[in-house]
Amino acid sequence: MNPVDIIVKKRDGGALTAAEIQYFIQGFVDGSIADYQAAAWAMAIYFQGMNAAETTALTLAMAASGEQFDLHDAVAPGTLIVDKHSSGGVGDKTTLAVGPIVAACGLPVGKMSGRGLSFTGGTIDKLESIRGWSPDLSESQFRRQLRAIGLVVAGQTSNLAPADKLLYALRDVTGTVPSLPLIASSIMSKKLAAGADAIVLDVKCGHGAFMETLDDARALSHLMVEIGQRAGRQVTALITGMDQPLGHAVGHAIEVKEAIATLQGKGPADFQLLVESVAAEMLLLGQAAPSREVAQQQIQSVINSGAALEKFKAFVGAQGGDLRMIDDPSQLPTAPISQPFTASQDGYIAQINAQEVGLTCVALGGGRQKKGDPIDHSVGILVQTKVGAPVKAGDELGLIFAATQADAHSAMERLQRAYTYSATQPAPLPVIYDRITA
Ligand code: URA
Repeated sequence: MNPVDIIVKKRDGGALTAAEIQYFIQGFVDGSIADYQAAAWAMAIYFQGMNAAETTALTLAMAASGEQFDLHDAVAPGTLIVDKHSSGGVGDKTTLAVGPIVAACGLPVGKMSGRGLSFTGGTIDKLESIRGWSPDLSESQFRRQLRAIGLVVAGQTSNLAPADKLLYALRDVTGTVPSLPLIASSIMSKKLAAGADAIVLDVKCGHGAFMETLDDARALSHLMVEIGQRAGRQVTALITGMDQPLGHAVGHAIEVKEAIATLQGKGPADFQLLVESVAAEMLLLGQAAPSREVAQQQIQSVINSGAALEKFKAFVGAQGGDLRMIDDPSQLPTAPISQPFTASQDGYIAQINAQEVGLTCVALGGGRQKKGDPIDHSVGILVQTKVGAPVKAGDELGLIFAATQADAHSAMERLQRAYTYSATQPAPLPVIYDRITA
């Protein structure tokens, strides 16, 4: 085998064998296949696509390129390891609430999460708003905490699917990110390497997401469900809306506050519904509930009893977080400036450009311009009035939390452009568009 033949075969529309794909990925990781050859191969895949068998082979080869975890010895015998993944959105603090709820229902959750990317926030950055909380756990700490508390959220280890890390960096600079087989294999390789038996995918769809249309989100979901099936894992994908920010809070500390409220059953309606739906899917896939009705009852019970919030506290405390901030969320980092932003005209709110709201948060200091930049956990935007609400010019739409008056002013101007209005009331935006299973 040689890399040129494999590139040419794909360039000309051929279907690659699993052996060819493995050879290519192995060579790319060990350096015997050059970056420019991998870039040419990615471009050939971008134009020619891959069938489900090829995409599965690529997923498995990338998953096997580094450490592969098996967490079964850290949970009760027979317990399934269930993971969740969100394709990324604005105001997406779902893991912060879903993890404790599912763990409080008795199904252990041991997750590796990421940091913010572009206009989307990251779970690890949000949790770092809590003084002392750390995502850096050794493998033995991870296992010990999963056994003791049933809930762990850690940063991704550098050796998890290193082929994906290399290929993603190359795709980022060669115009080959938006390819369904490359996105699906990238996401699924990390979930498989992290040792999941079953995976609930929250595939975001809309202007604030990777997949802007429902058709694209459906195609990606079907592909990932099929990869899971071929790899012997169970996968359910929920296609969920990202045509406006999720919930009210967009930022870090303010998203932690909203997650705490949601654990008490007091979250914004759209976010509460999403959290409870993802949690129910996890309980079903993990065989921790015999039916959706029972799963929903379990979820309500741990919210009402306070067990979900207690689980969150146990997890935060185990990873070094200051629990006074959870007991009294007003102690979480707070920006010095809090300024309302208002409606520019009468009418109904027709659209809130989630991407623009996310970018406004980045500009306030809540995101990075480049990898490793520090972020300000205290800044953000509270989107209190959402699509469909009737407003009059000058009505308060929400609050900006900023480090300076000048930042708040720029954010206000930018947010004005993120809203559009209509004379008639638009139909409510669905929270969940579709559910895709094997
Ligand atoms: N998320 C990933 O992990 N990989 C992609 O290619 C796109 C989104």
